Amino acid sequence: MTTRRLTRIIRNIALLVIAAIAVLAGVLAFNVFTHGSRQLQVAAVPRAAVDSEGAATRLSEAIRFRTISSFENPDQDTEALRGLQAHIAKSFPAFHAAARREVIGGYSLLYTWEGADPKARPIALLAHQDVVPVAPGTEKEWQQPPYDGAIAGGFIWGRGSWDDKGNLYSMLEAAEALAKEGFRPKRTIYFAFGHDEEVAGTRGAKLIAAALASRGVRLDFVIDEGLLIAEGQIQGLAKPAALIGMAEKGYATLVLTAHATPGHSSMPPRNTAIGMMSAALTRLEDHRLPMQVSGAVAEMFDTLAPEMAGFNRVVLSNLWLFKPLLLRQFEKNGPSEAMMRTTTALTIFNAGDKDNVLPGNASASVNFRLMPGDSQASVIEHVRSTIHDDRISIEPFAGNAEPTPVSSTASPSYQLLNRTIREIFPDVVVAPGLMLAGTDSRHYAGIADNIFRFSPVRANSDDLKRFHGTNERLSIEGYADMIRFYRRLIENTAG
Ligand SMILES: [Zn+2]
Repeated sequence: MTTRRLTRIIRNIALLVIAAIAVLAGVLAFNVFTHGSRQLQVAAVPRAAVDSEGAATRLSEAIRFRTISSFENPDQDTEALRGLQAHIAKSFPAFHAAARREVIGGYSLLYTWEGADPKARPIALLAHQDVVPVAPGTEKEWQQPPYDGAIAGGFIWGRGSWDDKGNLYSMLEAAEALAKEGFRPKRTIYFAFGHDEEVAGTRGAKLIAAALASRGVRLDFVIDEGLLIAEGQIQGLAKPAALIGMAEKGYATLVLTAHATPGHSSMPPRNTAIGMMSAALTRLEDHRLPMQVSGAVAEMFDTLAPEMAGFNRVVLSNLWLFKPLLLRQFEKNGPSEAMMRTTTALTIFNAGDKDNVLPGNASASVNFRLMPGDSQASVIEHVRSTIHDDRISIEPFAGNAEPTPVSSTASPSYQLLNRTIREIFPDVVVAPGLMLAGTDSRHYAGIADNIFRFSPVRANSDDLKRFHGTNERLSIEGYADMIRFYRRLIENTAG
């Protein structure tokens, strides 16, 4: 080959590479700029007057009732629940005059605020009365005692201030103010307050939903606690993001048992129960279910991308190219990984009780949290084919639950919730998301067209540690906005 010919080939290759880069840059830029904002444009609404001091006092009093639910001992907080319910009745007289009150399952509350138009479809506002305990040994780390309901430094302090008495009382504050003004909703609004959400909701929310179902009630939508207004938690996004949980992951614990012949350890066989089980568990950890960008999470990225700046915007607007990069990034961090795959967690391992005896079996529990789209059956099939060992049996736990149906962002109720958030919190962007934890609202899946999990609370990553943790608190200013939010939601949906 002549030198001249070689030069020409190299030059052509270089030109091709440059052309390819230019085309690629063009496609990336095209996708960024055609991927416009999906945020609703809303007119400013006047801020409703709120008696924030009085409301803060009522919430602080509510915190003093230690409504700590227990799965094993359902009666441990009945006295506290009775106290809380008397406080609710005393604090919101106009609402109690306007709505019908029922007690379900012993301690759960269902209020029916009858709508003027019997043909309009009802909605339900959910919150729970119970709280989680303070972790033993952490009491001293609280800046204010956890059950005093102290008001200090602009905050209402204590267990339940945020989860979930803040939501419960702000709903009632909003309804009380409206009832006092003579407001009557056009459609029926249910206020449903379970008393055992933190221990699965089977004695409370489940029975309320069953009671409504037996009356033939079909809800347009349900709103319950859930995702928050996340501040500074999403890389590349300067504005706070109000995320609405469109679905909840499912729950599957599988108990694996390896069977072997028990015997003396002086003459061990090649296959022992512990060895088989260890190998099976290693395979499960090495072959986890695949990462995916789908459903509510894909919609979240699509909605947030145009609100972002710089490289993050380019990446999220061009997932056709950057998806592997995104998945690798998200896989590095527990909470973000959990948004994108059915997780595998080895939680219990039991085998053997004497150092010179081979145990006849070894057992382990593996806990999976299922993405919408996966199912109990598909996870069991995954486990069976991954461990590939007939000597190991697989038993599902009684409390397992499928992922919930996914609510629709195209529904009028989502648009309405979205608009209400933008009206009360004009500085935030609204996006759908996936709820990783469970809420009472899962029990309503059979009677509601859409379920939204959203708490109108601003939180940065430091605040998140307070949730179910130490120094739980709610700002008085933020609490007043929660009341404004529920008031506006009622006006928008039933005004
Ligand atoms: Zn809660």
